[in-house]
Amino acid sequence: TPEDQALVDGFQEQPDELYEGELPVVAIVGRPNVGKSTLVNRILRRREAVVEDVPGVTRDRVAYEGEWSGRRFTMIDTGGWEATATGIHLKVAEQAEVAIDMADVVLFVVDATVGATDDDEAVVRLLRRAGKPVVLVANKVDDMRMEGEAAALWNLGLGQPWPVSALHGRGSGDALDAVLEVLPDRSMVAEPMPVGGPRRVALVGRPNVGKSSLLNKLAGEERVVVDHVAGTTRDPVDELVELGGRTWRFVDTAGIRRRVHQTKGADFYASLRTQTALEKAEVAVVLIDAEEAIAEQDLRVISQVVETGRALVIAYNKWDLLDEERRYYLEREIERELVQVQWAPRVNLSARTGRHVDKLVPALDVALTSWDTRVPTGRLNAVMGEIVSGHPHPVRGGKQPRILFATQASTRPPRFVVFASGFIEAGYRRFLERRLREEFGFEGTPVEISVRVRE
Ligand code: GDP
Ligand code: GDP
Repeated sequence: TPEDQALVDGFQEQPDELYEGELPVVAIVGRPNVGKSTLVNRILRRREAVVEDVPGVTRDRVAYEGEWSGRRFTMIDTGGWEATATGIHLKVAEQAEVAIDMADVVLFVVDATVGATDDDEAVVRLLRRAGKPVVLVANKVDDMRMEGEAAALWNLGLGQPWPVSALHGRGSGDALDAVLEVLPDRSMVAEPMPVGGPRRVALVGRPNVGKSSLLNKLAGEERVVVDHVAGTTRDPVDELVELGGRTWRFVDTAGIRRRVHQTKGADFYASLRTQTALEKAEVAVVLIDAEEAIAEQDLRVISQVVETGRALVIAYNKWDLLDEERRYYLEREIERELVQVQWAPRVNLSARTGRHVDKLVPALDVALTSWDTRVPTGRLNAVMGEIVSGHPHPVRGGKQPRILFATQASTRPPRFVVFASGFIEAGYRRFLERRLREEFGFEGTPVEISVRVRE
């Protein structure tokens, strides 16, 4: 299949750019039983990570979203690695090495009651070489008497040891403040999107596909124009429309209602208007004139929706004009031209007659539900483990990149970060996306997968 071919020759640049909204990574590193998971629990302030006295006990979660003083970050608990779905069994130093590579900041935990061991020293050497910011935690400093043992860890040459009792909370706030001081401020990149209120829909598509007709049909007499800022005629106008017993907000409808003259540059302005509408919307209905051949411009609008990360419904309009023959060719065209967005719900309607216009709401609901979906990390990694063991990444240059674990960094749309031990090919990433869609649905939403790879 083309996908298999892509696996073979699909070498592509691994983007080292992080996508918007990805959180900085704090990795918790240290020997077994020094108190890593206890510290994770302390930071999360809820008992999410499982703590057991038995080393190597099953823990199904390895990545958590943490927050301190209003800053959010992804926390990786290497204590959980012994039993991930991918079955990693690494020595302390190897484990630390992987974690350090992925981290923006390393929280290195040493048991102050034991002092630095050979294993600890090995990790210190890795940390020095990596040159990443390190916050050294001297754990199990439950009272004043242990402070002296903590101070002895200055000898490791990693700067100040922060005396902490993960069990009782003593000192953990100060250690976290130290983490924030060196944490890159990537969390600020995420664009703020208003949450709540009526769901926001953009009605988009090239000129004459029937946007204005559909809006009129949907809004009927009850339409309410909002957000009209006095001034130029170019101001975007939102309309509140009752559909299926709920209120929906159709964004930037001014451009839809106004007949736009076909002048030079009209394409450019049309696509600019589409973009501003998409920025404000949560879901887009892309209208396509079913009577005409699918055009380059239709595909461009669809790409715009996907690239903007909005939920997508495709509506084939003017269905009243179709005869048998055109229907047959349309099906072929869709198969050929729209393979990339097979996951989008599709409605065949007529803005003129009102045929199937009522099917828009269920399609919008499906798409938005997928767009909002969050897969629990445990479930995600269980599924990922099955996918990867059933079809491992091909061996390249004698090496086999392994998927260590994955986490969903954000929703709207679902964005996944896959942590891997080596370069993951584009074809394999598409394979992962396809399998995740098979497993979780995601009908109507783009899905983003980015890879964090250790060099
Ligand atoms: P991990 O293997 O590094 O994740 O360690 P755990 O978090 O599972 O902790 C190992 C053991 O040390 C558990 O019995 C914890 O209760 C205990 N422990 C963790 N932090 C502290 C602490 O600050 N003080 C004391 N006294 N015990 C701790
Ligand atoms: P817009 O430029 O996308 O807003 O498209 P309009 O709503 O202005 O529609 C362009 C033309 O297509 C108009 O002449 C409409 O009457 C016609 N039209 C729109 N929807 C339908 C439909 O479902 N069936 C038919 N037969 N004509 C339609």
